[in-house]
Amino acid sequence: MQPAFDAHDPPSLQLIDECVHCGFCLSSCPTYLLWGEEMDSPRGRIYLMREGLQGEPLSAAMVSHYDRCLGCVACEPACPSGVQYGKLIEATRQQVERRYPRSIPERMYRDLLYELLPYPARLSALRPLLALARRLGLLSRATRLPLPERLQTVTRLGEVMPLSTAQVPEWTPAAGDERLRVGLLLGCIQRAFFSEVNAATTRVLSADGCGVAAPGAQGCCGALSEHGGRRDEALRLARRLIDTFETADVDVIAVNVAGCGSMMKEYGYLLRDDPMYAERARRFSERVRDVSELLQEIGPRADRHPLPMSVVYHDACHLSNAQGIRAQPRATLRQIPGLEVREVPRERDICCGSAGIYNLLQPNAAGDLGDRKAANVLDAKADLLVTANPGCHLQIVAAAQRHGVQLPAVHVMQVVDASIRALGVETLTRAQQGTVQVAGDGV
Ligand code: SF4
Ligand code: SF4
Repeated sequence: MQPAFDAHDPPSLQLIDECVHCGFCLSSCPTYLLWGEEMDSPRGRIYLMREGLQGEPLSAAMVSHYDRCLGCVACEPACPSGVQYGKLIEATRQQVERRYPRSIPERMYRDLLYELLPYPARLSALRPLLALARRLGLLSRATRLPLPERLQTVTRLGEVMPLSTAQVPEWTPAAGDERLRVGLLLGCIQRAFFSEVNAATTRVLSADGCGVAAPGAQGCCGALSEHGGRRDEALRLARRLIDTFETADVDVIAVNVAGCGSMMKEYGYLLRDDPMYAERARRFSERVRDVSELLQEIGPRADRHPLPMSVVYHDACHLSNAQGIRAQPRATLRQIPGLEVREVPRERDICCGSAGIYNLLQPNAAGDLGDRKAANVLDAKADLLVTANPGCHLQIVAAAQRHGVQLPAVHVMQVVDASIRALGVETLTRAQQGTVQVAGDGV
């Protein structure tokens, strides 16, 4: 049998050697928390990578331990030796996807997801169908049927999917003097279903003195493909996005989706061997900012009006663990008078189970993590859940709904936007199928 990895970007032995097997990462790992299995911990998976480099073949068992990893990188900040686990698992995943013969139904399912999710136009075409299915009650009926777990998850997420149709213009001028020209990533699921978040982000940036360019021709950033091990597809999408924003004449590129921002900050690393793009990718990554990070860098200019309510802020893994952005979203919320920002009282740094498309591939583990997170979020007894990633939003709201609780949830930017526009608290807390349309009229 051939060894697990070929010479095309295998997990780096140098990075693997940085692991001293201390086990400090174990308690931070959601899959270790669920099953208590060494091989489903960061240390165990690193051990398997080493075995693979030493010539062990890609067995079904080895692949299942890699597949069960969420890629949440909670193990990175927990590691005193600074092991870069994210780079290791991504290199491993692209080897697995190229070399491991998955079953035909598994391949077809994965191909279907990747033919759909990175393409906003294809996703947008589903919006009216989803709206119709919801109006006819088909999804709620389907969740009561004994469907396979993956299909159950799809229907539950479909039930709470926002169906926002807000539009974002290609150019929005700054209110008053322009401090900065900002390019806005519109995203895929964000653009197709959560476009109100993009509209709110644009209004906030404009109010705080930024001109906002949102090129209509932009596509996916490649995050879902990269996290799924589809490296060539991810790099093709990354190059296209670099091309698009190079012509946009902007100072920085703002992102309001945790997973996308994390990927875009990695372009310089991922394209380091591409003679045409290495330098351009490095420059691009340097200009990427999460939108809360950007707002804290430039400081607020527009007045924030009081919002006398409590919110519980959930850290998206790809914002907190991958980008180290924890303080900025909280500081952005705390600049709003009257707003009380609460913490998730337990297991704050444990992933909610969304993790890109993990919940569509590993629905049982994701369901267990979603239930834990929803219970912990609800224990904060806040008026509203606030997060910065559509995947977390859907996962937690769907888990709460499964237990009969309608949990109102919004993005950080929707809260700031409501404050700047002096909208009432009730516009944020009014739950509509698990989401809130603060305004459906675009920018
Ligand atoms: S990954 Fe880091 S924390 Fe985990 S066992 Fe290795 S050195 Fe220790
Ligand atoms: S990325 Fe997350 S699930 Fe994977 S080993 Fe690290 S902590 Fe565990």
